[in-house]
Amino acid sequence: MQDMLKGALSHLEDAARHTSVHPEVLEKLRYPKELLTTRLMIRMDDGSRRSFLAWRCRYDDTRGPTKGGIRYHPEANAEEVVTLAFWMTFKCAVTGLPFGGGKGAIQVDPHQLSKGELERLSRAYVHAFASLIGPDRDIPAPDVYTNAMIMGWMADEYSSLVGHPCPAVITGKPIPLGGSLGREDATARGGFYVLNHLEEELGLKNGSRRAVIQGYGNAGSYMAHFLHEAGWQIVGISDSRGAIYNPEGLDPAAALQAKRKTGSVTGLADSHGVNTISQEELLALECELLVPSALEDQIHAGNADKIRAKVVLELANGPVTAEADRILQQRGIPVLPDILANAGGVTVSYFEWVQNRQGYYWTLEEVHSRLKAIMEKEGRRVWSIAQTKQIPLRTAAYVHALSRLSEAIEAHGTQTYFAG
Ligand code: GLU
Repeated sequence: MQDMLKGALSHLEDAARHTSVHPEVLEKLRYPKELLTTRLMIRMDDGSRRSFLAWRCRYDDTRGPTKGGIRYHPEANAEEVVTLAFWMTFKCAVTGLPFGGGKGAIQVDPHQLSKGELERLSRAYVHAFASLIGPDRDIPAPDVYTNAMIMGWMADEYSSLVGHPCPAVITGKPIPLGGSLGREDATARGGFYVLNHLEEELGLKNGSRRAVIQGYGNAGSYMAHFLHEAGWQIVGISDSRGAIYNPEGLDPAAALQAKRKTGSVTGLADSHGVNTISQEELLALECELLVPSALEDQIHAGNADKIRAKVVLELANGPVTAEADRILQQRGIPVLPDILANAGGVTVSYFEWVQNRQGYYWTLEEVHSRLKAIMEKEGRRVWSIAQTKQIPLRTAAYVHALSRLSEAIEAHGTQTYFAG
């Protein structure tokens, strides 16, 4: 995991070589501002008490309150939380949101808990981190294996702690509790808008359009749906239990139904023309677009030379390791980087926070058109930085974010303790 943070920081150093930033700016951005670790004790349904490790990291808040999801995963750890919070810092800067970066996690397999246990654990998290979070301080949201229901419990717990409704403390809430329309599919929608906008530049406009989706949670399944609607052929889909392939194209809705019914997209395997393949075979499928949508480190030094996609779009956070990134670059495969491509989620989270604070709610059309405008503007900016400086899209995204961060850090003044 040390490698994960090291890899993330290497992108910062790469970007620093292509833009002029004060060394103190880099000194500030190399380390998290704050990381809190705790153990949450909850009552299980059988009457016993169990403890779970939990973290919240506020990486950098120069540009605004820290923002980022909470992940429930059996392998969650401090290093991963810090890295994810680092990425959030740059993601919010790429999209120009008035937020810094944060992230949280509980080391748990949520599928092993009852609904009651899950609710007690989620409330315990808010209780433990109540002094750290807040609508002007640190604003959590969903991430891997957390959802609107969990955000609703957390908003409720925080509101009862402070003694009044406080919806702006958390985003990704259920609509009746102040959630925003359009938050549910925002991560995939944002990625889809960027892809469409840069389609011609990426050489995807003409010819066949085959896509492979790795990971079929919220982001992956919505992306498959948007691509399918736009005429793409989804030739491969995987989830944590297996992968399916059909050269004639898979039906994303049927795959989702199979996953809901059997627990995996491989439940579709017996139907006509659908074969199961291994995870490694899925990543090596010939296609125009590969969309890693699950966890970190999926494309690494050991398999990057097998990728046969024309373009990779990172809907997950950190799915391509720094080593693999260099291999793909040498092989001429452009990567639409996570801090741009999956920023749709946090962008609509920002809209939710704004709506909560103004107490006035937008239509779905307003959410979509504002999201589209941001994704296209920042996507275009990253593309032109890459062209002008002749650097990869990821480095260009970091250059873009770094210049915004650096302006903010310098504007805070140089003698302050607050901004460092
Ligand atoms: N967990 C999402 C991400 O990694 C969303 C964060 C948010 O909405 O604050 O971007």
